[in-house]
This record gives sequence, structure tokens and C-alpha cells, in this order.
Amino acid sequence: MSEETNSNQENIKTETLGDPAGIEFFPERRGDKISRSWFRVLFLGEGRDNLQKVKCERQIHNVVSESPLIKLMMDALKSSGCGIDLNRHISCEPCSQVVTGGYDAEMNQIVVCQNTATSKAAVHGALAHEMVHMYDFCRAHIDFTNVDHLLCTEIRAANLMHCSFMSAMVMGTASLIRIKKQHQECVKRKALASVVAVRDLTEEEAKDAMDRVFTKCYNDLEPLGRRLRRNSNDIARIYRERYLYGYGHS
Ligand SMILES: [Zn+2]
Repeated sequence: MSEETNSNQENIKTETLGDPAGIEFFPERRGDKISRSWFRVLFLGEGRDNLQKVKCERQIHNVVSESPLIKLMMDALKSSGCGIDLNRHISCEPCSQVVTGGYDAEMNQIVVCQNTATSKAAVHGALAHEMVHMYDFCRAHIDFTNVDHLLCTEIRAANLMHCSFMSAMVMGTASLIRIKKQHQECVKRKALASVVAVRDLTEEEAKDAMDRVFTKCYNDLEPLGRRLRRNSNDIARIYRERYLYGYGHS
């Protein structure tokens, strides 16, 4: 199994940011409608007609309570003054077939796509990725209409999450010498795919933006402090060491 194969699969189901350009991917994102409380759905058994949604909400509940990486991101958000209330900030919704999640900056809400993110791994991947966008928006108030800003947060999400954590598992027999280069290529490819999915950019415009922001954004490892690497205990270590980065005082 090569990284290439995995990356191509990822590109088919990418995600998008909930800005006006991406709104068509999220049919329930209209006006100021907010999805009803999913705790109510989960615990009172309502919405029997909507098993997909209930299943998605259950997966989120499991991932949030089990994943050290998600816990770390939630601690980091809280430390930055942007604590997550699951009811308010995470929503399961039906989406276009081409996305698995999104971040709605206007609502400060993460969307997990109940029809495309159906496995626990997919829900985990979507949450981890979107939490980087949420963190960047909290920290820097990024302008989602600015291509450089958008590309930067996608580079960071790919760098911190997808390329190190997701595809590292299937990178297989790549030689050590090639890993660094492959990793950078993975980040560039994934970030470009995410941006092109929501922006009407020419290849040249996208590459120009990449040249402008790649080095700076690739080297910005907040809030994880270091990239997650395969065959390591990085995730557990990051969670244990979170106090070093000013998170999780408890
Ligand atoms: Zn993204």
C-alpha cells in the first residue's frame, strides 16, 4: 500500500470550510438554523427516523471520550478561550458525497457528515482536522476569504493530522530518506485538494499561494508541538506532556 493510493482516496472525500463558497456542500447550513441538541437525541431516544444522525453522534461521543489527540485539541481550544461544548460546537448533518466534514467559521461549529463519515476512524479524522481549523480561527481570526490564510490552515491540518497520523499508517516500506520529502508532498497535496474543493483557483494561483505560505505554515506546530510520527508513542506522549505547552491545567 503506498501513500499515493491513500492520498487519492482522501482526495475523493475531502472536506471544506463553511464559508459562502462551500455552502452547497452542506444542505442544512442555511440562514441561522442550528441543529437540534444531539444529547437530547442520544439520550432520550428521539429521532428514531434518523439513525444515521444518532450513529454519528454516538461515534463523536466515543471519539471525544477515548482519543488522547481529540482531548488534547479540546484542552488547547479551552486554553485559548474557545472551549468546546459538544452540543453547541459539533453537529452531525447530511452533506454532499464529496466531503466528510467542515468548519463553519460564522457559527464556530464543526460539521461531521453523518452520511460520509460513517466509521469511527472517519469521524476521528474529521474531528481532528476540523479542530485545527477551529483552533486557528480562535487563535488568529483567520480570514477564510483570503487564499493564503485558507491554505495555511489546510497545510497545518494536513501536517498535524492527516499526513502524520492517518497516512503514516499506510506509508509502508518508504525508506527513511524519502519520508521527509514524502511527508512534505503529502501535506502540499492534501492542502491543495482541500482548498481547490472550495475555491475556484487556477493551478498557478494555488501554486503561487503555496510558495508564499508553505514554509511558515508547515513549521507552525501549535498546539501539538511536534508532528505525530508513525511507529511512535507521540499521541500518548503529547497528551502526557500537554502541560509543557500550557494546556490541561487540572
Ligand atoms: Zn480543512
